[in-house]
Amino acid sequence: MSASGFVAKPAKRAAGDAYGHLALGIWLLVGQNGAPTACLNAESLLMTQRLYYDDSFTHSFSAHVVETFTHNGHPAVVLDRTYFYPTGGGQPHDTGSIGGARVIDVFTRADDKAVVHLLDGAAAGEVACEIDWTRRFDLMQQHTGQHILTQAFVQTAGAHTVGFHLSENSVTVDLDAEALTAGQVATAEGLANQILYDDRPVTTRIIDPEAAEGVRMRRVPDALATGGLRVVEVQDFDMTACGGTHVTRTGQIGTIKVVGVERYKGGQRIEFRCGGRALADYDVRVGVTGKLTNALTCGLTELPAAVERLQNTIRERERTIKALQERLVEYEAADLLANAAVRDDARWIIAAFDDRDAAALRWLAGRLVREVGVVALLGISGEKTHVICARSADLSQDMNALLQAALAPFGGRGGGNPAQAQGGGGAATRDQVQAALAAAAHPHP
Ligand SMILES: [Zn+2]
Repeated sequence: MSASGFVAKPAKRAAGDAYGHLALGIWLLVGQNGAPTACLNAESLLMTQRLYYDDSFTHSFSAHVVETFTHNGHPAVVLDRTYFYPTGGGQPHDTGSIGGARVIDVFTRADDKAVVHLLDGAAAGEVACEIDWTRRFDLMQQHTGQHILTQAFVQTAGAHTVGFHLSENSVTVDLDAEALTAGQVATAEGLANQILYDDRPVTTRIIDPEAAEGVRMRRVPDALATGGLRVVEVQDFDMTACGGTHVTRTGQIGTIKVVGVERYKGGQRIEFRCGGRALADYDVRVGVTGKLTNALTCGLTELPAAVERLQNTIRERERTIKALQERLVEYEAADLLANAAVRDDARWIIAAFDDRDAAALRWLAGRLVREVGVVALLGISGEKTHVICARSADLSQDMNALLQAALAPFGGRGGGNPAQAQGGGGAATRDQVQAALAAAAHPHP
């Protein structure tokens, strides 16, 4: 065994730290020798034999219901023996069935450490039990993969794991490294995968906590002062105090892939996928990139350059469109000014459109009132009405008042200043908007 591979972790503890609780839980449940039942010391005190400690692969078994009760409105049972893993140590509980009823939660009862199985129906007597193996094996792949990736970061980057999160959707470890280069991450990932290719045995055993040097452990609970400590060992690579379920050979993990690195609480959060999750993630990425390479008619590695070219083209076109719009508005303004109605020494321009947005309307209004003696009442029809009332600086009409009058038929709201005001209202046709603008300009006495 290579001692250099084992780095004793100082008792550093982060929020949400699961390791300490995990070790404590195991401590209460295992004896000095640890085998075969993992409950030697405390067996007489405990209601449930936790068989998953020594056998993480059995997922079909029979047991006897020793207690039934109701918990949160659901039937709950305690078995004399169970392979169901209760939530703990950062690992989610197992699901499956007991006596035909669905298992919806599994947890450890605080007072007597019994494993409680929450069901969607009643179960009693001798019952056939089935663990959802797809879910359990996935969790074992992620969990054991985490042990290996954590140790790989210790050995290649001197970065220690201070947090671990495992759910159905994501797996992350939080490292105490202030920064990590892409190269460092790749090196750690490479070492972790080499450990998988080696197909090393993963074993669990109970050790004397006094002899726990070299065991990766984030916190030694007080209760560990006597008895044994459950240790999970990846041969000649990692020893971690842990009470979860693990694969028995590293090859069963398949692959470990880091998919995200981000700053987190002064350290680095590494998101990764193991085994089936890595493959599923690869599937998604192949699907997405396949669509993109088809759409952009390029190869996978050419995608970033192709997207950049596309973005440049769009920016260029936007500049061209803006220049054309500027020229167009000149023609439009000239046309509107030429046909304006003269009243009270002002040229009144009243126009409704159904083919432009508010920004274009503001632009046109601004261009019109650059001329002296112009009042422009412009509107957009459609599902939402938009109206702008603007006048030249040399005039004195109140555009706010005109706007309120123009929007009134559409239940609209808006505001501005005496020289320019705008607002919107409900749906209207172009004729309706035109009529409302004209009525606002020529109010009945
Ligand atoms: Zn573990």
